[in-house]
Amino acid sequence: MSVCMDTTSMPRWDEERRIAEGGRTVTILSFGEEAGEPARKLLPLFAGRRVDWVRLPTEWGEIAARVLGRQLDASRVGWRLILVGPEASVLAAYAAAIAGGLLDAEIMPVPVGSADRTVYCAHCHATHLAAVEVGRSTTCPRCHTELVVYHHVSRTHGAYLGYMIDAEERW
Ligand SMILES: [Zn+2]
Repeated sequence: MSVCMDTTSMPRWDEERRIAEGGRTVTILSFGEEAGEPARKLLPLFAGRRVDWVRLPTEWGEIAARVLGRQLDASRVGWRLILVGPEASVLAAYAAAIAGGLLDAEIMPVPVGSADRTVYCAHCHATHLAAVEVGRSTTCPRCHTELVVYHHVSRTHGAYLGYMIDAEERW
């Protein structure tokens, strides 16, 4: 299967990094210890702006959702949200922020470390976490379908789309 990178919604992080510049106040959410150093390196980008840095557990969960919810409630025009951590946590936070009313251009996702990806099963609509590269396959724990992890990130689900491995032949 060949995929044209120009037409997919695979995150292009460097581009998003540029988009997120600007804004008057900045909140950095870092997920886990490993995200600490990369988050610290971002600080000079926001010189002259008010920066809040909140350190969260590595994995996206109730605590992170509560913290982000409070930030969203208090958010003003000109606010930028920076998400640093394992890609699965970053994408989950991204989806929550979009659902909470933030725009793509107001969020800067900075995935670090972990190869774990959240995969959305196109067949049973469950998501699961797997240490899998894009283009490889993983088995859906719910419907046991062998899924190919596709070059497409759903920001609504905060996950990579997984399709049945031989779906193209069947259609
Ligand atoms: Zn499934």
